Amino acid sequence: MFKFKKDKYSSSRGGRSALLDISCQHCGNHICFYQKDGPGELKRMYCDRIVAPEELVQRYKGKNYSELAPLNCENCKRQLAVPMIYEKEKRNALRLFVGAVNKQKITIKEYEKMTNQG
Ligand SMILES: [Zn+2]
Repeated sequence: MFKFKKDKYSSSRGGRSALLDISCQHCGNHICFYQKDGPGELKRMYCDRIVAPEELVQRYKGKNYSELAPLNCENCKRQLAVPMIYEKEKRNALRLFVGAVNKQKITIKEYEKMTNQG
């Protein structure tokens, strides 16, 4: 069963989180599922909030900034985001290019269905 990560980052954003289905805006290819904390537009994806697929989670989780690679669409090869450090929290993130991805809010039930869990 999926559970949102709850920590100082989510509580500093009001404690409410949502699941987003991130896809390439150019070709529609699914990129990842992402936990968005708090309100507002998605401008960057924090590396510790990528939920799935596992390959992408491992590529960005717990890495040094220098180890991070840009995020590309594996289908159309477009660059979607580049690594950054969110200075306020000293936290690795991916800065999304404007108009690079579609963000669709989904429920936990939908997420589990899409990833064949539960
Ligand atoms: Zn694409």
